[in-house]
Amino acid sequence: YPQSGRLVILGAGESGVGAAILGKEKGFDVFVSDMGSIADTYKSTLEKEGIAYEEGQHTKDQIINADLVVKSPGIPEKAPLIKELRGLGLPIISEIEFAAQYTDAKLFCITGSNGKTTTTLLTYNMLKNGGLNVGLAGNIGNSFALQVAREKHDAYVLEISSFMLDDMYHFRADVAVILNITPDHLDRYEYKMENYVASKFRMVQNQKDTDYFIYCKDDPETVAALDKHPTAAMHLPFTLEGKLDTGAYLDDEKNLNILIPNREAFIMNIEELSLQGKHNVYNNMASGLVAKVQELRNQKMKESMGSFVNVEHRLEHVACIGGVNYINDSKATNVNSVWYALESFSTDIVLIMGGVDKGNDYEMLKDLVRSKVKAIICIGKDTGRIHEAFEDDTDVIVNSASMSDAVQIASHLAKKGDTVLLSPACASFDWFKNYEDRGDKFKEAVMTL
Ligand code: ADP
Repeated sequence: YPQSGRLVILGAGESGVGAAILGKEKGFDVFVSDMGSIADTYKSTLEKEGIAYEEGQHTKDQIINADLVVKSPGIPEKAPLIKELRGLGLPIISEIEFAAQYTDAKLFCITGSNGKTTTTLLTYNMLKNGGLNVGLAGNIGNSFALQVAREKHDAYVLEISSFMLDDMYHFRADVAVILNITPDHLDRYEYKMENYVASKFRMVQNQKDTDYFIYCKDDPETVAALDKHPTAAMHLPFTLEGKLDTGAYLDDEKNLNILIPNREAFIMNIEELSLQGKHNVYNNMASGLVAKVQELRNQKMKESMGSFVNVEHRLEHVACIGGVNYINDSKATNVNSVWYALESFSTDIVLIMGGVDKGNDYEMLKDLVRSKVKAIICIGKDTGRIHEAFEDDTDVIVNSASMSDAVQIASHLAKKGDTVLLSPACASFDWFKNYEDRGDKFKEAVMTL
């Protein structure tokens, strides 16, 4: 990519502003353009750094003279401006791709349809606890470019989304993790699963034989795509089904085993993991494999895996009221994550779900709904498909008028020992600002009970 000249950044969020700062430091003539309004804190940062910007529009004349374009992952390929820039043959890359050129740090990169944030944080905590000078960036919210410019860590744990991967070409992960691949965001992939899978597998492109590729051997989409997307990296699978000579597996005594050639074997009972549920065993396996690659001491790994506290809105315990546990899983924005949520409880469940349907197929939830869910309370605008999908599987399906209404209804339907679970399977922007807002409104409503 050009190492000087005009750098145009499209989208002035955390990653765009970070890329602008790094670009300026590297001697580019930087221009930032955002179609919407730019947050005040970012505006004052850009002004302080002396970086030109515009908001509320993309002025074409200011953009088409770029030598290099860094685009926010939120801007789809089909946006007219992007099409036009592609037509001009301009290189358009993601902030991660841009920043990676300017660091020799080791890159531990985590992608997947579900579990990215949890696994990224767990891995970061573990490596940090193990004494590594490690940074945390990517989709999780911190700009990688900004840290490359200002903090200069020896290693980074990067949460990478498929939208970021779409604009990554030369990027090379020292350790690449693909947690799982289940349908999500298909609207950005021409509704073709193979396109979405190919996007996830960009994670292993350019890997060398000294690198590592960590993946879930139980995930059918990942396994089916292995041949199509070869990598020279050492393969480190993880599984809950059977044993492995190399990788991570569960033995008959429910011990999580990690075996990597030339590394001390790791073993820990899954009862001792601070994050419970089957999906979190997978997440711990993936993080543990990264830590082992990095030759972390077993004691340090156990400390982290035994005490890690996840961020909010992921199967977060809110309160126990009248013997009913209220769980906030607002981050469950697709069907697969709801499956894991339902799977992880052994009680009867009153499920609050719904919102903006992303083309959901609820089929995989039917068995669990039949065996565990005594009532479904719908929130949001797309409730019709939920009624249709589950009408034969549970006794009660009702609509609600608001989150507090939903929580009220749930509290009446739930009996001592039951779980009230918010796990929506849908996007949130019909009734809420985002999934955090949805989870916060749930928690507020629970607190008024
Ligand atoms: P992401 O960053 O990929 O959205 P999170 O860690 O924020 O993932 O978790 C999102 C949702 O997915 C949560 O509801 C969580 O319970 C569920 N989840 C977490 N890990 C997994 C996994 N390995 N497989 C399936 N679902 C998962």
